[in-house]
Amino acid sequence: MKEVLREETSKYDFVIIGGGSSGMACAIMLSDLVKEKSPTPISIAIFEQNKRLGKKLLLTGNGRCNLTNRTLSPNRYHGHNKGFSDFAIESFDNKATLRFFSSIGLTTIDDESGKTFPFSMHSSSVLDSMRFAIEDRLITVFAETKIVSLEKRADGFRLVDSTRRCYRSDHVVIACGGAASPFTGSDGNGYDLLRKAGHRIISPIPGIVQIKTETEFVKAVSGVKVYAKVHFFHDGSEIRSEEGELLFTDYGISGPPVLQLSGDVSRILSREGNISDRTLPEVRIDFFPGQSAEQVLNQLKVRRNAFPNRRIEQFLVGLVHNRLAVRLTKETIHKPLSLPVSTISDEELTGFSQNMKQKRIIVTGTMPLQNAQITIGGADTNEFDPNTMQSRICPGLYACGEVLDVDGDCGGYNLQWAWSSAFLVATDIAKRVSKNESSEREEKRK
Ligand SMILES: Cc1cc2nc3c(=O)[nH]c(=O)nc-3n(C[C@H](O)[C@H](O)[C@H](O)COP(=O)(O)OP(=O)(O)OC[C@H]3O[C@@H](n4cnc5c(N)ncnc54)[C@H](O)[C@@H]3O)c2cc1C
Repeated sequence: MKEVLREETSKYDFVIIGGGSSGMACAIMLSDLVKEKSPTPISIAIFEQNKRLGKKLLLTGNGRCNLTNRTLSPNRYHGHNKGFSDFAIESFDNKATLRFFSSIGLTTIDDESGKTFPFSMHSSSVLDSMRFAIEDRLITVFAETKIVSLEKRADGFRLVDSTRRCYRSDHVVIACGGAASPFTGSDGNGYDLLRKAGHRIISPIPGIVQIKTETEFVKAVSGVKVYAKVHFFHDGSEIRSEEGELLFTDYGISGPPVLQLSGDVSRILSREGNISDRTLPEVRIDFFPGQSAEQVLNQLKVRRNAFPNRRIEQFLVGLVHNRLAVRLTKETIHKPLSLPVSTISDEELTGFSQNMKQKRIIVTGTMPLQNAQITIGGADTNEFDPNTMQSRICPGLYACGEVLDVDGDCGGYNLQWAWSSAFLVATDIAKRVSKNESSEREEKRK
C-alpha cells in the first residue's frame, strides 16, 4: 500500500539535518554571515532526531569538551582523499574557533598541552552558549524530528520526517554525524540520505577507541594504570608511538596514548582483513620511557645489590605497580620466586629490562563503533568541493562534520573539523544569498 504523505507545510531557505556540533555551528554562522551581507533575514531550520540538541557534544572531553587545539595543523587530519580538509582548517582555524565562541559568550582556557576547553571545564557551557545563540537568532529547531527521506526536485529539495510530514528547501546540509557512539543519535543514517542522493560511502570503522589484544597478560594486570610509551608495530615496522597514561583492561588496553594510536590500528586491520601470523600487529610497551635500556638494567642491578635477601617475587615492588611487578617477574624468572633476589642472574636481569622497555602484546582488533569516539570513513570527499563542502553530484546539497570521510587525531581536532567544515558551508550559502539578492535588485532596476 502506498504511504500517504502529509501536506507540504513548511518551506525554509536553508535546512540542516542534524543538530549536533557541526549542524548547530553551521546554523549560527550562516545566520550571522547573512546578516552581514543582506538586509533580508533568511529562514533556517535544524532537524534533530533527539529530544535536545548536541547530545554528543555534552559527552566530549570526558564532559569537559576539548573544543580545539593550539597545535592545530592540516596533518592532524586523515581520510582517503588526502588534503581534502586543508582548506577548511586553514580558512577557519583554532583562532577563528575562539573568536566564534567568544562572540556567542563562551570563555575558554588552554591546558599546558595546547588543548582548549571552556573556562568552566563543563561541556554544558559550550552547548548552552550554542543553544542560546540559536534562540537569539530565531533559528527554527525541530526536535525529536528524524528526516527519513530527501529528494531533489525541479523546485528544490523535499524532505520527509518519520511522521511523514514534508518540508521544502533550496539548500540542505547533511550534518548527521558518523556512526560512532550511535546512542548519541549519530547512528549512520546520514550515510543512507547521502547514498540516496547518489554519494559513495566508504565503510565506517571505529577511531579513537580502545584496542583489543591477546588477553593473557592484560587480564592479569586489568585495572592497572601506568605511565608508558606505546609503540604500534605492523609487519616489523613501527607505525606510530604515543606516550601517556595507559590502562590495562580485560580485553586489551585503553587510555590516551592508546586512543591516539587506535586509528592506525583500525585502518591496518580493516585493510588486511584476516591478518596472517607473519603480519600480526603488536604493541610494544615501554614502562620507562624516560630511560634507556641500559639505565633500566643498571637500576635493576642496584636493586639486586640493595635487597639481596628479599624474595624474587618482591624484586620489583616499589618500582612498578605491585600487580604489574608480580606479572613481569613471573614472565621473566623461571625458578621458584621464593628464592632470594641475590640468585637472579645477569641474564635474567637483562630479560627484566627488555620486558620493561619493550613488553610485546599481540593486537587482535579494536572495540566496535559502539565504543568509538569517532568514525573513520564516511561520505567519499572526492564527491564534494573542498572549498564549499557542496556536493559535486547534487547541487544545493552540502555536508559537514563527521559524516564526511575526514577524521582527526584525539585532542580537539574532530570538533575543530565540525566548526571548520560548517564555516565553509555557511560562507558559501551566504554568498549565494547575497548574489541572488543583487541579481533580483538588478532585475527590478531594469
Ligand atoms: C565520548 C566522546 C568524546 C568525544 N570527545 C571529543 C573531544 O573532546 N574533542 C573533539 O574534538 N571531539 C570529540 N569527540 C568527537 C566529536 O564529538 C564529534 O566528532 C563531533 O560531535 C561530530 O560532529 P557532527 O556535527 O558531525 O555530529 P554529531 O555531533 O554526532 O551530531 C549529529 C546529530 O545529527 C542527528 N541526526 C542524525 N541523523 C539524523 C536525521 N536523519 N534526522 C535528524 N537528526 C539526525 C543526531 O541525533 C546528532 O545529534 C568525542 C566523541 C565522543 C563519542
